[in-house]
Amino acid sequence: MKKVLSLVLCAVIICCATAPAFAENGGCTCGFSPIIYVGPLGCSSIVRDAGTENAQQLWKIDTEFLLSNLGKVLPDISKALLTRNSDLLGDALVEFVNACFGDLALDREGKSKENVTTPELNVPQGDRHGPDSDYYFDYDFRLDPYEHADRLYEFINQVKALTKHNSVKLKCSSMGGVVLSAYLDKYGYDGIDVIICRCCPLKGTAVAGEAFCGKIEINSTSLTRYGEDAIPFLETGFADDFIEGSLYALLDVLKGAGVIDAICSLGDRLVKDVGDKVFEEALIPVFGTLPGIWSFVPEEYFDDAVEFMRLPSEGGLHDKVFAYRNAMANIESNLNAARESGVKICIICGYNVQRTPLVTLWKSTSDGTVDTKYASLGAVCGNVKEPLADDYLNSLKNKDYLSPDNMIDASTCALPECTWFVRDWLHCNGNAGIDELFDLVMTSDEVSVRSFEKFPQFLEADDDADTVYPVTGAPDEFARLKAAPSYLNLIRFLFSLMKKIMLSFK
Ligand SMILES: [Zn+2]
Repeated sequence: MKKVLSLVLCAVIICCATAPAFAENGGCTCGFSPIIYVGPLGCSSIVRDAGTENAQQLWKIDTEFLLSNLGKVLPDISKALLTRNSDLLGDALVEFVNACFGDLALDREGKSKENVTTPELNVPQGDRHGPDSDYYFDYDFRLDPYEHADRLYEFINQVKALTKHNSVKLKCSSMGGVVLSAYLDKYGYDGIDVIICRCCPLKGTAVAGEAFCGKIEINSTSLTRYGEDAIPFLETGFADDFIEGSLYALLDVLKGAGVIDAICSLGDRLVKDVGDKVFEEALIPVFGTLPGIWSFVPEEYFDDAVEFMRLPSEGGLHDKVFAYRNAMANIESNLNAARESGVKICIICGYNVQRTPLVTLWKSTSDGTVDTKYASLGAVCGNVKEPLADDYLNSLKNKDYLSPDNMIDASTCALPECTWFVRDWLHCNGNAGIDELFDLVMTSDEVSVRSFEKFPQFLEADDDADTVYPVTGAPDEFARLKAAPSYLNLIRFLFSLMKKIMLSFK
């Protein structure tokens, strides 16, 4: 009898001990909570008159639609350029921008035109989850990020119910970080066990700040470098390497011959002549009404942008644009609070890529789109392609977070222990090496820049080999050529050598 009793007692104890484990997983025992991928800008299409025979996709803009609109104004543009008639040119450009993008504009309440919709937003389906599958969360990028946060809250609950898990992992790409910022600010981090931010404009991006303040500048160095940095990522179909190498050489030769300078000065004159009109009659009335785009404006530009973009001083649109400033202001403290309570966090951003060559701040190091200082929540960075200034380096006491190429000091980041930097990584470009880091982040108990030998804080992307390496020193074209002996890398090496020789003769 005693034996039976003790057996029963044992059974009860085992049940009691394992019950919380079951409860914690909400039912599923696979041990891997589902991943929700919060997509980038343009993750869903925006359509005018969806479901009718006149349906027209407005975003991502359809090439045919773009060309047909361009066709309508091309005669005027040609005439304007030939006769140097800037009024005619301005009118044609305004007409073109409005024909392509005008219907994307929101009203003074920050609401879309009724016939402009995102017809196919995802609803989570099925219970398939694991390291190789995710639930894709998409949204209309124009709208208030808090509206997406509300939908994400529902989405998370649906995924939890479908998979029988009590928590989820959030993997956010680019603008996905804006949605995350609004979500954390409104709903907190309950029920989230991993947060990944991949190239996210958490503190905005300078290109939006400068454009919203009307600071447009076309500069030949940045334009050339922008082209050169984009070349390795071209998909030209056949003979990739040869075409890429030739384009690289061509760009450098055109720059050397002054052709790109001439194009830029023409562009600058154009901006001077017609910029005001295009801003006033097309860009401000369309893009100035989108809270989603406002969420990219960094704090230091915001007041000037409100004035320049003529944001209404009251009403729904005004309130939405201002509300997001809280999400942006609180993102550091929200992420830190999440980390302190055990949420595993990985912020990863690119650097040393030339940014969009249209703004005065073209020297800001970035992944081509988002500035490294904004994506990393506060790293101090050298100019693109340059190390930090000697004064800064000499006065730096804690060098634990200094990149081996002296380009980035991560000690000033909001979460220096959880922030990775990838040199030469183009905005959100797929890379198997980085995916491997994400797998480790999602499956390890400890997540920090000291956790994984293969993935220290500073990495270099090698697109040819589809992997990343630890950064060991300054960028070296010869080392790159040795590691990946392609025609493009040979051309890059030869041009870097020529530039060095020319500089030594100066
Ligand atoms: Zn499971």
